[in-house]
Amino acid sequence: MEFPTTKTIKDAIRDAIGQQVTFICEGTYEACPTCSGLGYYDEINQTSLDSTCTVCSGAYWLFTDSKVTAVAHVRWSRMDEPNREMSGKTTDGECYITVSVDSLTPTQVNTIKEIQADSRRLNVYRTVYKGVPTRDRITFVAKEFTKTA
Ligand SMILES: [Zn+2]
Repeated sequence: MEFPTTKTIKDAIRDAIGQQVTFICEGTYEACPTCSGLGYYDEINQTSLDSTCTVCSGAYWLFTDSKVTAVAHVRWSRMDEPNREMSGKTTDGECYITVSVDSLTPTQVNTIKEIQADSRRLNVYRTVYKGVPTRDRITFVAKEFTKTA
């Protein structure tokens, strides 16, 4: 392989090594802003006193996902590593996303629902801690959600 010399190629490589990805983590329950603003909290039933609220439908508590953006090294298996798998079989669209452990809290790591990278939505199915001597990186092995999902 020839070493890249032009700035454009160097920039492209740098972008490939570090890029912004978005982690969608399962969030927490938050009070409906409308109902909490009006003081419509039913403390006995833990619901809203206004069952017709258009925001929470009377539930009062809204489940909100949290978004975390981090710089990650994103690698698509079929492009970069054709012979990686022991069986020699490459799964289409498999993706390795590596971030610093500081990018996410342990809770966030455990509640990742989705990663968005390269304008694609990915489903994490394996989390690998890496690094020597300290485990300072996390690699998420992910696959693109099926188109129907
Ligand atoms: Zn409400």
